[in-house]
Amino acid sequence: MDFTANHYAQLLGLQSPWKVTSVDLDVGVLRVDIHVNYESGSGFCPECGKACKLYDQSAKRSWRHLDTMQFATHLHSQSPRIKCEEHGVKTISLPWAAKHSGFTLLFEAFAIRVLQASRSTQAAGDLLGINWHHIQTIMERAVQRGLARREPEEVAWIGMDEKSFRSGHNYISLINDLENSRVLEVVEGREGNAASELITSGLDEKQREMVCGVCIDMSAPYINAIQEHFPHADIVHDKFHISQHLGNAVDKTRRIEHAKLQKQGDESLTKTKYLWLKGMEHLSDEALSRIKELGRCELEVSKAWYLKELFKHFWNRRDKMYAQRYFEYWEKKVATSGVEEMKKVARMLRKHLANILTYFDSYITNAFSEGINSKIQAIKANARGFRNFKNYRTRILFFCGKLSLAP
Ligand SMILES: [Zn+2]
Repeated sequence: MDFTANHYAQLLGLQSPWKVTSVDLDVGVLRVDIHVNYESGSGFCPECGKACKLYDQSAKRSWRHLDTMQFATHLHSQSPRIKCEEHGVKTISLPWAAKHSGFTLLFEAFAIRVLQASRSTQAAGDLLGINWHHIQTIMERAVQRGLARREPEEVAWIGMDEKSFRSGHNYISLINDLENSRVLEVVEGREGNAASELITSGLDEKQREMVCGVCIDMSAPYINAIQEHFPHADIVHDKFHISQHLGNAVDKTRRIEHAKLQKQGDESLTKTKYLWLKGMEHLSDEALSRIKELGRCELEVSKAWYLKELFKHFWNRRDKMYAQRYFEYWEKKVATSGVEEMKKVARMLRKHLANILTYFDSYITNAFSEGINSKIQAIKANARGFRNFKNYRTRILFFCGKLSLAP
């Protein structure tokens, strides 16, 4: 028995005055119970570190530990309390577990690694033999630790973006460190207050002063919040959001025109939705000749498609000045085309042009966060729609925050 007790004391890293008093093995239910005792009349105050007299010991509690082979292993102990002259009666810190945790530190550290390596948290939970609630608390503690440890280092390039949350019209806003591909903070909503909260809790004041550029879509609440909180940053409207606006305009043009043609019994545009959404470089030979064929019919949608493709060259201009000239050339093409939806986009781009041209100073886009996007997509799919924003935030920061999570 002594040998087993010593063995477990070593595994747990326990030192005097902690002692493993007994180890019970139940082969029938594959379970090991380790009983630990505190054998000293004094201990250190968790507040000031002073050695104090032992006051009493709490009732026995249990912690789940790493399995021994396939045996579920639990640790049991009382928690000793000391009486400090200055701080009163306090529970001393236990060497094997964090405060309020039902798991030992080694178990939590292992669980975090399993969670990060697993495709789904359900699968990780099954592997570890713990339930959804336990997983959530382990992740929460890990994220709290990670955020507390995060150094306020300089972050030069920032991306801000919104994502849908739950079905319907609920949104969350994210702030990302573009250089290090990590999410810094997540808040609920996408209005002005949300943007301000996002910025101030993601970065401290000194960090905000150091930011050189912020990449965003053209939405007003974000613009206002950035002007307020980043005194030295350029706004750079995201290339990929702009492509999206152009793509949407093509799609809308197709829908309107298709409905009009159908009324006249013309089915030219039936089943062409995806044809127009792809870029030229992704089209098969067959699709390309289809587009050429439809182009001869003077359709609005093919004009829109051509204008969308034409805009791609904007991003390859040598510098700001050439880009501006190219934009003006494109703008004229849009005006003469007479395609209404494209004219709307052109007006929006004209209005924001100064902050679109800033792209040629920094070349930042939110595209790198594509990796993050697919991770967030997986988190969402995994949880089958979060009812609770807090849990969603925890998971995003757990998986995409690049935090130091281990206990
Ligand atoms: Zn004290």
